[in-house]
Amino acid sequence: MGVTRRDFIKSSFLLGSSLILTPFSLQAAQKKEERWVPAYEKLEKEGKLAQRVEQAYAIFENCQLCPRRCGVNRKKGERGFCRAPLNPVIFSYHPHFGEEMSIVGQNGSGTIFFSNCGLRCVFCQNWPISHEGRGNEVQDEELADMMLHLQKIGCHNINLVTPTHVMPNILNATRIALKKGLGLPLFYNTCGHERLEILKILDGIVDIYKPDMKYMDADKAAKYSAGASDYPEVTKKAILEMHRQVGQLQIDRQGIAKRGLIIRHLVMPNRVADTEKFVKWVAENLPKSTYVNIMAQYRVEYKAFEYPEISRGITVQEFLEAMDWAKIHGLTNLDPQSKAIRDFYSQPRSN
Ligand code: SF4
Repeated sequence: MGVTRRDFIKSSFLLGSSLILTPFSLQAAQKKEERWVPAYEKLEKEGKLAQRVEQAYAIFENCQLCPRRCGVNRKKGERGFCRAPLNPVIFSYHPHFGEEMSIVGQNGSGTIFFSNCGLRCVFCQNWPISHEGRGNEVQDEELADMMLHLQKIGCHNINLVTPTHVMPNILNATRIALKKGLGLPLFYNTCGHERLEILKILDGIVDIYKPDMKYMDADKAAKYSAGASDYPEVTKKAILEMHRQVGQLQIDRQGIAKRGLIIRHLVMPNRVADTEKFVKWVAENLPKSTYVNIMAQYRVEYKAFEYPEISRGITVQEFLEAMDWAKIHGLTNLDPQSKAIRDFYSQPRSN
């Protein structure tokens, strides 16, 4: 085929962006639209947001925010499996252009990278942040100011990366920011390992959910994500609940996502992520038009070198077979960048 794995990985990023960047309709952009109202603003008007913040904060006393359910009292300074303190630790906040095009838009996704994580995968691409907890501890008021800053510079959403263990802080900060004018969609960017009881607290607050679906097999989840053998079953239930809350992805006339579900699935070498089972599960349990992003950018990071089966990038063939499975199982709303990469590498080549 004449394409090395390195060429494939490098060009996947470039190609994905360049092939699907369609200019938004100027006419549509100029038309005056009714003001879009985020979910949390509606909940505040109903007088329910403060109650949710209180409910969420109480969980810190016996932390059950994620399925690890450590039971530590984070208000008293105890730390559980994620090693997170009571206050959020933030590595960075800025416009981010590495998300789906409807999330990034013209001005970027207003991304806040939270340090620490309850899943702790051996191939984590953010390991200095998620495993080592690098970053600065802030108060909820400062987190609210970050949200407002991201809105001020034109970002299209508040992208909360690894939010699970700081969910109460996020809710409190969102309410503080709302009172000062926050009006962007809240975008919950999670590993997918979420408890149903916790997601119920987020019902009517989060506008866009983006869970990963990393594995379909309990043993693999346990092996690569610190014993989390419940990951496949917990995450399946979580995704169904997220879909119940926000439904299909909705895009405005400027091409910007406002509400709904995006499922991300990273293709891994040697079929470790069980992509065929994943797409089959989506097709059988959710509308086939659910937005699914099958990603090609697996990199050997952190401790992945210690596991021979995941100590290399994926091949072109592994990515193409993943996309083929999605087609075979009838998924109709695949991420345009993934489709562009598939189409490019599907073309016949000469050496
Ligand atoms: S958020 Fe952290 S402390 Fe709380 S249950 Fe999960 S791992 Fe344990």
